[in-house]
Amino acid sequence: MESSKNLPIFVTQPFLPPLDEFIPYLQQIWASKKLTNSGPFHQQLEAALCGLFGVKHISLFSNGTVGLVTALQSLRITGEVITTPYSFVATSHALLWNGIKPVFVDVAPGSLNLNPAKIEAAITPRTTAILPVHCYGQPCDVNSIQKIADNYNLKVIYDAAHAFGVQDEGGSVVRHGDLSVLSFHATKVFNTFEGGAIVCPDMKTKERIDHLKNFGFVDEATVVAPGINGKMSEVNAAFGLLQLKYIDDVFAKRQVIDTAYRAQLANVKGIHLLQGTGEKVANHAYFPIFVQPQYPLSRDELYQKLKDHGIHARRYFYPLISDFPMYRELASAQHGNLPVAAEAAARVLCLPIYPTLEHNDVQRIIDLVAGISR
Ligand SMILES: *Cc1c(COP(=O)(O)O)cnc(C)c1O
Repeated sequence: MESSKNLPIFVTQPFLPPLDEFIPYLQQIWASKKLTNSGPFHQQLEAALCGLFGVKHISLFSNGTVGLVTALQSLRITGEVITTPYSFVATSHALLWNGIKPVFVDVAPGSLNLNPAKIEAAITPRTTAILPVHCYGQPCDVNSIQKIADNYNLKVIYDAAHAFGVQDEGGSVVRHGDLSVLSFHATKVFNTFEGGAIVCPDMKTKERIDHLKNFGFVDEATVVAPGINGKMSEVNAAFGLLQLKYIDDVFAKRQVIDTAYRAQLANVKGIHLLQGTGEKVANHAYFPIFVQPQYPLSRDELYQKLKDHGIHARRYFYPLISDFPMYRELASAQHGNLPVAAEAAARVLCLPIYPTLEHNDVQRIIDLVAGISR
């Protein structure tokens, strides 16, 4: 056990299936010489994910960020878009890459997702869409958001980068909104090294997105839009197919860790846990804790203390997106407009959670966090 104490523990580790199981996929790619441009593995992964999510149309991408940029273009979103400051910076960057002005709206205290009660006041004649995030894989209040979108004739694009495998009563959460965008980055619950996808409501939208991710090509001699190169390669798609074989095991192992953390941290003085937003199936992508004033250490002191013990927890999401230089001058970026998000950015620490994190290491993390409060 001594040796494991010296190995650094990160907030997440990518899940890697046995290497020898990947070789046959590579052999097929070598034999076919089909490396990219919607090859057989690309098509198989799109079909497999449609089956898993219970949706009809998915377009795979080289990464989630190009997926977000393309999703906004495919719906011709312009002007202003309402979004959350409490996310990974790619959410808002996708707006800037389209020349769209982000309008930040505060999150709700229970979920840290965009607060529907605060959205209407931020709508102007230039508003064309809402870009919420299912933060930590906890579903947004999709019904309230859709109601506002319907009233004001706005599109809804979900950043579902955290929400792979998450289900509400009606099925996978990625079915909501006009489009949902996933990330398959190495740090996510399901990864293709780099990768992403857009869930589309109909074939026409998927075709437009498929054109946009391939330079705007419709056929050999026809280009209909100034598209980007957002295609997923065959190697990434093949890795995704292999990874899918293990996904149930990945969720099960994450759940065991989540349960252990919850059981032993729920009653620690000064540590507050998120309760979930009523999801039927969670993915346990993250384990955020709130370090409250009653705890003997500040959030940053606890972060450092864990680091001194080789445990690299992460302050997701600190700083707020709205505090970065390209956003902070916006009127909506001021902390007075975003009190709940600002408080969360100062208090939240995400503890390590990943399938190969061993029980004794989970217990060591719990003992450290709980021990300080005793
Ligand atoms: C990871 C992430 C992205 C970006 O996805 P990439 O595949 O890394 O480009 C976007 N939004 C959120 C909320 C994320 O966590």
